[in-house]
Amino acid sequence: MSATETHAFQTEVNQLLKLMIHALYSNKEIFVRELVSNASDALDKLRFEAVSNDALTEGEEELAIQLEFNKEARTITITDNGIGMTRDEVIANIGTIANSGTKKFLESMTGDQAKDSHLIGQFGVGFYSSFIVADEVELTTRKAGESASEGTKWISKGEGEFTLETVEKAQKGTVITLHLKEEMDEFLDENRLKTIVTTYSDHINFPIKMEKTEWDEEAKESKATGELEQVNKATAIWTQPKSELSDEDYNNFYQTISHDFNEPLAHMHNKVEGTLEYTSLLYLPKNAPFDLYDRERRYGLKLYVKRVFIMDDAEHLMPTYLRFVRGVIDSADLPLNVSREILQSNKVVDKIRAASVKRVLDQLAKFAKAEDQTEYNTFWDQFGQVMKEGVVEDFANKDKIAKLLRFASTYEEASSEQRTSLESYVDRMQEGQEAIYFIVADTHAAAKGSPHLEMFRKKGIEVLLLSDRIDEWLVSHLTEFEGKQLKSITSADLKEFEDEADKEISDDEKQAREALTEKVKKVIEDKVSDVRITHRLTDSPACVVSAEGDMSAHMARMMEQMGQAIPKQNPVLELNPDHALVKKLEGIEDDAKLTEWSLFLLEQAQLAEGDQLEEPAAFIKRMNALLSEAM
Ligand code: ADP
Repeated sequence: MSATETHAFQTEVNQLLKLMIHALYSNKEIFVRELVSNASDALDKLRFEAVSNDALTEGEEELAIQLEFNKEARTITITDNGIGMTRDEVIANIGTIANSGTKKFLESMTGDQAKDSHLIGQFGVGFYSSFIVADEVELTTRKAGESASEGTKWISKGEGEFTLETVEKAQKGTVITLHLKEEMDEFLDENRLKTIVTTYSDHINFPIKMEKTEWDEEAKESKATGELEQVNKATAIWTQPKSELSDEDYNNFYQTISHDFNEPLAHMHNKVEGTLEYTSLLYLPKNAPFDLYDRERRYGLKLYVKRVFIMDDAEHLMPTYLRFVRGVIDSADLPLNVSREILQSNKVVDKIRAASVKRVLDQLAKFAKAEDQTEYNTFWDQFGQVMKEGVVEDFANKDKIAKLLRFASTYEEASSEQRTSLESYVDRMQEGQEAIYFIVADTHAAAKGSPHLEMFRKKGIEVLLLSDRIDEWLVSHLTEFEGKQLKSITSADLKEFEDEADKEISDDEKQAREALTEKVKKVIEDKVSDVRITHRLTDSPACVVSAEGDMSAHMARMMEQMGQAIPKQNPVLELNPDHALVKKLEGIEDDAKLTEWSLFLLEQAQLAEGDQLEEPAAFIKRMNALLSEAM
C-alpha cells in the first residue's frame, strides 16, 4: 500500500470554492443533486462501455446510487457502482479546473464578495458544492475493469490541498463521504434527504436507494432495518408524458444535467414518431456560461440511444451558434456503438438536428414576438452576440435568425441596450427611404457620437448603432432584409442624399466648391484618395469615409488587431462647406499654410472615427500652432 501523498489545489480551485460557498449558502441542499448527477453520469458511462465489454459490469446486476447518513459520525455518504476513476483521473478531474478560460475569468473578479458571487452563476457547480456543507470530504473510487487493489482515496478539507492514497476497493465505482460542518445537522435526517432527492433527482435514469427505517414504539425512535428502498421514480424524464411533468420537474432536471443553479429560460419537450423515432428535451439557459466564447470548450447535447447514454457534448446535434442549448436527444434509429465520427455524417443525425434547430428558433421567435419582452431581452443580452454568428453559419435559417436580431438604434438614443429589430426599423422607415442604415464603431459611445450621424439626425432618419465585435462581420453577410438593403452610413456611396443636396445650390457655388476640393487635394495628395464636399455633416467641419471598394476603417482596424497585414488605404476626406473652418480654407493662398490646415481637418476627422493617428505628436503641434495664430 502506498503512502499518502499531499497535493495542492490549483489556486483557481481555492478561489472558486470560496466563492461557491458564499454564493450558494442559502441553497446548500443542492450538493445532493450535484453528487447524484455525477453518480448518474458515472453509471451512464459504465452502461455505455459495457455494451462492448460486459466484463466491466463485474457481475453486478443493478446499477444504482445509494444515499446514507450516520448521525453519530455526522456523515452523509453517496455511493455509486459506476465507471469510477483511476488515480490520474482523480487528479485531473478533482483538484484542477480543466478549462483554460477559468483562470482568465477569475482574474476578472473584483474582490467584492457580493458582486463576485453573482459571477458564480456562470460556472457549473459540481463536486465542489460538497464543501458548502462539509468541512472534510473523502472520495474513494476504483475504475471499472481495474483490479481491486487499484482504488484511490482522495481526502480534502477544501482548504488548499488534498491527499491521495492507493487503497483496496472491492466494488467498482465511487463512494463519497461528507463530514458535515457543525451547523449542518439538518441533513442528518431521513425525511429531509428523501425530500431533497425527490425534489431534485426524481427523474434521473437510475434508482437512488436509502435504508428503510421502522418506528420502534418502545424506544420511541425509528430504527434502521438493513433493507434498501428506492426513493426516486428513476424514470428518465424525457420518456414521461408532458402532462405528467411539472415545470419544477423540468427545471430540476435542467439543473441536474447542466450543473447550473439558475432555472432555465424555457424547455422544449417533443416526442417524434414516424419514419424517425426520437425524443428531444431541449433547454434555453438564462445565463451565459463564462466560457461561451472559449474555442476549446465542448458543447452540445447529451445523446441517448433507446435510453442508453451514448455521449455528452454531442456537438453534431446543434450548430455552433446554438451551443448554449442544453438537453437530451434519445434516438431509436442510431446504433448503440455510434461514434462521434459517425455522427458527423449521418442522415438521421442531420434530420434530428434540423428539427431541433427549428424548435429552438421557433421558441425564440415566440419570445421575440411576445407582448412582454422580459424573456427575450434576457435572452438577447446573454446570447445575442452568439445568435449573430448564426446569420453566417446557418444559411438555411438566415431569414429566421435575421428577425431575431436586436440592435441599439438612434430611435432609442439614450440607451445602449439592443432592443430594435429589423422589422421595427422597417416599420418606422420614412417615405421614400430605401435602405436600412447602420454605423459600426468600436464602442456604443463612438457610434453614437460619430459625425456621420449629423445629417441623418437632421433628416430624422433612424440609424442602427453597431458596436459588438462581430457586427462588422455580420453586416458583411447580412446585406439585405425583406428586400431592403443594409447600408453603412460611413460608406462612400450615399448617392441618394447627394442628388438631393446638389439641386439646392447654384452653379457658381458648385464651381467654388470644386476649386476648394481640388486645392486641398493637391496639398495632401499622399494622405487621401480623394477630397469631396460632404452631404453628411451639419456641425463638424470634416469627416473621412472609405474609398469605394476599400474595406471600412473599422474593419481594417479589427483585422490589424488580429495581426493581419492590411495594405495602406487612404481615406476620402469630406468637407462641410458651411463650416467656418472650411470657409477659412478658401481664403488661404499660401500652400504651406493650406497644408497645415488641411492636415488638421483630416486628422481630427480620423480621430473622430476612432482611428490611430500615424503621428499624434505632430497633430498636437499643428493644432497648437493654429490655435496660437488665431489668438
Ligand atoms: P462536472 O460534473 O461538471 O464535470 P464536477 O466537478 O462535478 O464537474 O466533476 C468533475 C469530474 O469528476 C466529472 O466530470 C467526472 O469526470 C468526475 N467525477 C465526479 N464524480 C464522479 C463519480 N461519482 N464517478 C466518476 N467520476 C466522477
